[in-house]
Amino acid sequence: MQPMPKDYNHAEIEAKWQARWEEMGINRYDWNDKTRVPFSIDTPPPYPSGELHMGNVLNWTYFDMVARYKRMQGFNVLFPQGWDCHGLGIEIQVEKANNIRKRDLPPDQFRGMCMALVEKYIAMMKEGILKLGASIDWTTEYKTMNPDYWRRTQLSFILLYQKGYMYQGTHPVNWCTRDETAIADAEVDHVKKEGMLHYIKFYLAGTDEYLLIATSRPEFIPACVAVEVNPNDERYSKYVGRKISVPLMNREVTVIADEAVDPKFGTGAMQICTYGDKEDVKTVIKHKLPVIRLITQNGQISEAGCKYAGLYVNQARAAIVEDLKAAGLLEKSEKIQQEVGVCERCKSLVEILEVKQWFMKTRELTQKVEENANAIPWYPDYMKNRLIDWAKSLDWDWVISRQRLFATPIPVWYCKGCGEIIVAKPEWVPIDPKLEGPRIDACPKCGGKEFRAEQDVMDTWMDSSITCAVHAGWPDRADWQRLFPASMHPSGTDIIRTWAYYLMVRHLALFGERPFNSVLINGMVLGADGRKMSKSLKNYAAAPEALSKNGADAVRQWAAGGGATGSDIPYRIQDVEYGRRFLVKLWNASGFACNLLAKFDPKDTTEPDYQLLDKWIISKTENITKKVTESFERCQFNIALEDIRNFFWHVFCDFYVEAVKDRLYRPEAYGKANVAAAQRTLYEVLYRMLQLLAPVIPHMTEEIYQYMYKDGKGYPSIQVSQWPKFNPALVDEAAEKDGDLVAAVMSEIRRDKAENKKPLNAPIKNLAVTCKDEAAAKAIRQAEADIKSTLKIEAMTVQVGTADGRQVAQYEVYIKAEY
Ligand SMILES: [Zn+2]
Ligand SMILES: [Zn+2]
Repeated sequence: MQPMPKDYNHAEIEAKWQARWEEMGINRYDWNDKTRVPFSIDTPPPYPSGELHMGNVLNWTYFDMVARYKRMQGFNVLFPQGWDCHGLGIEIQVEKANNIRKRDLPPDQFRGMCMALVEKYIAMMKEGILKLGASIDWTTEYKTMNPDYWRRTQLSFILLYQKGYMYQGTHPVNWCTRDETAIADAEVDHVKKEGMLHYIKFYLAGTDEYLLIATSRPEFIPACVAVEVNPNDERYSKYVGRKISVPLMNREVTVIADEAVDPKFGTGAMQICTYGDKEDVKTVIKHKLPVIRLITQNGQISEAGCKYAGLYVNQARAAIVEDLKAAGLLEKSEKIQQEVGVCERCKSLVEILEVKQWFMKTRELTQKVEENANAIPWYPDYMKNRLIDWAKSLDWDWVISRQRLFATPIPVWYCKGCGEIIVAKPEWVPIDPKLEGPRIDACPKCGGKEFRAEQDVMDTWMDSSITCAVHAGWPDRADWQRLFPASMHPSGTDIIRTWAYYLMVRHLALFGERPFNSVLINGMVLGADGRKMSKSLKNYAAAPEALSKNGADAVRQWAAGGGATGSDIPYRIQDVEYGRRFLVKLWNASGFACNLLAKFDPKDTTEPDYQLLDKWIISKTENITKKVTESFERCQFNIALEDIRNFFWHVFCDFYVEAVKDRLYRPEAYGKANVAAAQRTLYEVLYRMLQLLAPVIPHMTEEIYQYMYKDGKGYPSIQVSQWPKFNPALVDEAAEKDGDLVAAVMSEIRRDKAENKKPLNAPIKNLAVTCKDEAAAKAIRQAEADIKSTLKIEAMTVQVGTADGRQVAQYEVYIKAEY
């Protein structure tokens, strides 16, 4: 066995192993291996957004612990990595950084700027992920902005169109007027905001009677299509069916009745506008009301707004309030707290516009989503409800078209003659319809020869919600179903409603099968103060800095142990520092064991004569193996790590290593078989600890393995060593019980030395141990030699008798030391 150096340089050693593992190919999935069972992780391709942040560190540590654990269990692990490049976020950054709007430049040039920014961000994130030691198979790397990936996204669109899941329709959609695009429900954030509630007089036609209507959006008055009351509301029921004048507008609408109106809300009478909110949409459909298109795609008032046309929404609101006041139609205005929908990306108020868009029929899959979510394990289990509740809450189908540039094009053209929709054939993709016409001679319907390209592009979630099939090799590998469904889909609490949901509906629709067989959920990373981590709150921790300073093995311990799986966890520097202290202990204790085992040959065939403390630690090691394995199986990383760290530090190091030192330092004083037992036990138990720690602390465990175990165990890396199997035959309850007593006696003697202000290695002239029963005395006598040598006891007596001296905590055993 090679002696280990005293110092450990994490930066150097972590980088060394990251490179070596890559060279050795141990992170690679073997596509040709037909013997090992595959285990595939549906790594979510992240949005490249700059440097790796602590939330990413938490995610990738989770993915990596699973990958390493499964690899050691003998699975052929696929741990892929892609980048979800497209999207509004990047476009907005390019616009802001260059002080331009997307239409100021030729589309290709704008796209090129987006791609350059994404490449820069990918490089930054990748550096962080490599530093963390994530055991990714980099041969799988893909970028959704590349045409080869477009091909997959476009093919999935075509197949879904053929199956009847994709349709074009003019429906109300969420619309961001700043970004001038449709957005999905999942991209709308709901925020609390202060607003003004205006009480406005709506006169019944030809009378001087009026209804008072409270609204926070008076700018919608020009789009008022009805006034609605509850039919059981005695104040208003007499007006149902009557005509009522729209204030400031020279027109009338009808008072309609609907039990959905809450008489206690506002004044109990509501204006229905197209569209103030989602409720208006429902009412318009139910009562077959006309639609007035008031707001344009860039947030101005349309011609329908008469004198307000051309104003932006905020300007129109102010102008209308002024006019209402002047006309004596505004009774009062009061401040209110309200919840409004804003664009997830740019935080502008979301409007509801009726525009022609492409949709995917997702709502008809809701029941299947629920069934499949219920059919698989979720870690933690309660998170499945977030997916199910979200799916059930959706009122509208998924709008998949966007009016942007940096995205996968929708592979569609329209016949200029008859408007026929021409969808690309599977063999045409990847294709950009704006650059190339359909590969047909004439319109199949009217024979026309001229076509207009679809200008819209796809929602970026259309790219990323087919990853389970793509990772498996679809559509290029004939055997892609070997890896489908993915074994595990890891996701964050913040993306269940997008990632997990869209993956579910896309794959169910495309293949009639759920995309993954289990889900692992991580929480969010908070600042040390428990608030959301943010640079402006000064509680932000930069991941590259944390990794460089502390090393990946220490930061990974924070991620693994910082909190229960699925819960939000604060980034506490104390957790990282505890991780560092543990690493120091692990390195020093291993180096010490390495010295103690200098003369040990793992191939030595001497039959060991196991002593009480040997049997005690062997049995405990089996039990901890069982516990840690169960925790990894349930993805309870924090429990696994705490159990193993406590055991290593406070049982193995504090007692066992101390107790066998003498046998190994002075083998001549003990029998050969007795020494062999100490050697074999120390060697195997430490190996087991390293293996159990390897998924969380891959670098240092590898370094120690190479010094101490590579020759004896024969694996090129601890990462491909076989995960230990619990062996019930080695569990020895009696030895554990007796050994626990011995450990307690040793602790008590240490306490006695400390209280008498003696150093730990101070000799004790005489130690008298008095036990209440013979069984305890027998146990202590069995370990007498180890106790004496560990605590420098010159003479020791063990007898059964009445209490004498200080009590050993929790035992009817007493000790009396003479120094
Ligand atoms: Zn926006
Ligand atoms: Zn035609």
